[in-house]
Amino acid sequence: MSALITYQNYVHGKYISNGSGETFEVINPATGDVSYLVEVATETVQQAAIASAKAGFAIWSAMTPIERSRILLKAVALLREQNDELAAGEVLDTGKPWQEASVVDVVTGADSIEFFAGLAPSIEGNQQPVGADFYYTRREPLGICAGIGAWNYPLQIACWKAAPALACGNVMIFKPSEETPRGAMRLAEIFTQAGVPDGVFNVVQGDGKVGAWLTSNEDIAKVSFTGEVGTGKKVMAAAAGTLKDVTMELGGKSPLIIFNDADVENAVSAAMLANFYTQGEVCTNGTRVFVQQDIYPQFIQRLKERTEQNIVCGDPMDPNTNFGALISRDHQQKVLDYIEIGKQEGATLLTGGSALKPDNAPNGFFVAPTIFTDCTDEMTLSKEEVFGPVMSVLTFTDEDEVVKRANSTHLGLAAGVFTQDITRAHRVIHQIQAGICWINAYGASPAEMPVGGYKMSGIGRENGSETLKAYTQIKAVYVGM
Ligand code: NAD
Repeated sequence: MSALITYQNYVHGKYISNGSGETFEVINPATGDVSYLVEVATETVQQAAIASAKAGFAIWSAMTPIERSRILLKAVALLREQNDELAAGEVLDTGKPWQEASVVDVVTGADSIEFFAGLAPSIEGNQQPVGADFYYTRREPLGICAGIGAWNYPLQIACWKAAPALACGNVMIFKPSEETPRGAMRLAEIFTQAGVPDGVFNVVQGDGKVGAWLTSNEDIAKVSFTGEVGTGKKVMAAAAGTLKDVTMELGGKSPLIIFNDADVENAVSAAMLANFYTQGEVCTNGTRVFVQQDIYPQFIQRLKERTEQNIVCGDPMDPNTNFGALISRDHQQKVLDYIEIGKQEGATLLTGGSALKPDNAPNGFFVAPTIFTDCTDEMTLSKEEVFGPVMSVLTFTDEDEVVKRANSTHLGLAAGVFTQDITRAHRVIHQIQAGICWINAYGASPAEMPVGGYKMSGIGRENGSETLKAYTQIKAVYVGM
């Protein structure tokens, strides 16, 4: 048996030792085997990361926006050149299919950096006369920002957080999820290769304890967090101690509303995409599928047929696989427990409902694509985020009713509406309390489009030009003449 590689923390343009040798294991979800070890960011690393970030900020913030933009665009080119190797790393860490990672994860990460690199030179203040005097404003960077990521899109999340922060002249200390530490390290290496100065993007590794250090550190000006609602509350509470700005990208329980006049095949495609893409581990998933009564029988018949015929579960690196493994054994069990609750509470199991052992990956953490029908709003599955391949189908009769039911959740991340009546589509979407909405589509998220949640699904936005404001602060300067 070959010895496992141990990765260190990436600080000031290189990997540094944590001094103690304390490590944690990273598991390949498709095999259950340990892939590699990672050193925990001890106090030695934490102090080095802060000192490095301060030095990096002095250099990076003094560059012109065009200079920063040029360097970031080099990183974009490197990301795209190394797409396949980076995507393979994402597959090994997350268990998601190569079919997805090779065309989405790195591409959308690079897109976001390209988008913000392009905007960097257009960040501007204004000026206003006040009698004979005048004032002007400058948009200045915040300083050291912390990024804390979830495990479902490790590299993409790191890119989406770094892109606006760095474009505005900030530096970032990023902590990926302890389940998927690889993507952020690779991004840090690429930034260095592209010419991003040392200290501008440091990566610290570890679990919530390292995250908690970031959120309470007084040298850090802002935290951008992606994860569960419960963790988000802890992050905000900790950030309050030093009055840090926060961006929160949290969980969802999003409605997908399908009216009688919808194109049924398109709506079925959307429901499958919104529940089984990345084996259901997507924050915007439309897990409450509301179907208007007349098309319900036809809809669930086609949904069952197409789910059973078209989903290929197996080794995620196999190019034929379109449905991979869940992130961990614990998460697999959590999802199976939710399925049991669904059965006990009286939902009808249309398909799936158990763990899977594909021939080419018998030890992976797989759960079958699962659909429950006859669901009601009161059931646990209609209320709680499962973060796995479990769809709840509910019926409705009229528009007002479905809007009210769709909104009856403390979450408000995303929503989708399928109908041929375009007036109704907009009318309904405008009443839905959610930050990311689709009409006759689901899941597309180009870098130009802001993403983020209403209610307890989040605070602030990622992507889209609005995000620049969240990574700059305004200095107003009054000039007496
Ligand atoms: P999680 O909340 O368990 O962990 C997220 C990150 O927070 C990890 O890096 C973890 O180490 C860190 N962390 C844990 N405790 C912390 C603490 N006390 N202080 C600071 N950091 C701490 O979430 P997860 O299981 O990794 O991810 C799944 C969740 O993420 C789901 O709820 C999903 O909806 C959400 N998510 C949201 C979006 C979005 O854009 N809205 C995107 C992806 C995932």
